[in-house]
Amino acid sequence: MPRFNRNRFVVAVSFVFSLFSAHSVHAEEVVVYSARIEQLIKPMFDAFTKETGIKVRYTTDNEGALIARLEAEGKNTPADMLITADAGNLWAAARAGLLKPVKSDVLDNNIPVHLRDPGNEWFGLSIRARTLIYNTKRVDSSELSTYEDLADPKWRKRLCLRTSKKVYNQSLVAMLIAEHGEAEAEKIVRGWVANLATDPLSDDTRALEFVAAGKCDVTLVNTYYFGRLMQKDPSLPLAVFWPNQNNSGVHVNISGAGITRYSRNEQAAIQLLEFLSSDKAQNLFADVNMEYPANPRIKVDPFVAAWGSFKQNPMNLVKAGELQTTAVKLMDRAGYR
Ligand code: FE
Repeated sequence: MPRFNRNRFVVAVSFVFSLFSAHSVHAEEVVVYSARIEQLIKPMFDAFTKETGIKVRYTTDNEGALIARLEAEGKNTPADMLITADAGNLWAAARAGLLKPVKSDVLDNNIPVHLRDPGNEWFGLSIRARTLIYNTKRVDSSELSTYEDLADPKWRKRLCLRTSKKVYNQSLVAMLIAEHGEAEAEKIVRGWVANLATDPLSDDTRALEFVAAGKCDVTLVNTYYFGRLMQKDPSLPLAVFWPNQNNSGVHVNISGAGITRYSRNEQAAIQLLEFLSSDKAQNLFADVNMEYPANPRIKVDPFVAAWGSFKQNPMNLVKAGELQTTAVKLMDRAGYR
């Protein structure tokens, strides 16, 4: 019969207690820095807390400010997770050494390869499709085909674009460079600039309003801006066109997240990330802003689904980051302000 070993018993008990106290000190809270605004993240965090008991504390700010803060705080950062609204900023955070790789079968299974970092430092959670929107009174959809075709002289003085300063357009042009090479991409962008009906506009909504008012015929925007505008005024003469369906597919970007390099609650943070990719949160994450779930097994919100389904560009979004600086310089050379 084994003899009772008092010393071992004490060690075992104190080990269990230390686990328990470590758990109670660290694992009950995850701290998130989010460039997605509160109303777009709180419903998912509440659902996570309800399911796991783990609290989520969050700070929202613009992406540049949050990344600068992570850099300044270094090892002392309270943040466990960074959420941004595009791949370019997640790529920049990863490159600055602010994120850490996450090996997770759940994430690998839920998020398609082209929507996550090949080094596993960030993961897309919702898809934002940047597509063509046209004036239904001035354009027949048979005239439209591709992003590249908007450089054709037939669109002279018919195109509106948002400013090149916005990361969405920088990502789009970066993907064109990845696809066609720099010289060909520059020709396309020069063609767009030659076709502008007006100076580049401050935001996607303004571009849509110009198209609706007949000041131009077609523009390039993220679909959720179209959705918001159409909910306000369903009578606007605007419609979605999905370009490049016979070749590269629609340019998509992501809202996504990564775990910070110095996270102190890594396990709980990974649990939150996995939760956000799952069927329990994917609809909350996407539908609240009229985006598309990143997890392809999740149904699209009916209001959004009514715009039709489309083939996405399957190129990995890491290219949007790698080629962002090249894209900015190219747009400048091409006179796209
Ligand atoms: Fe946006």
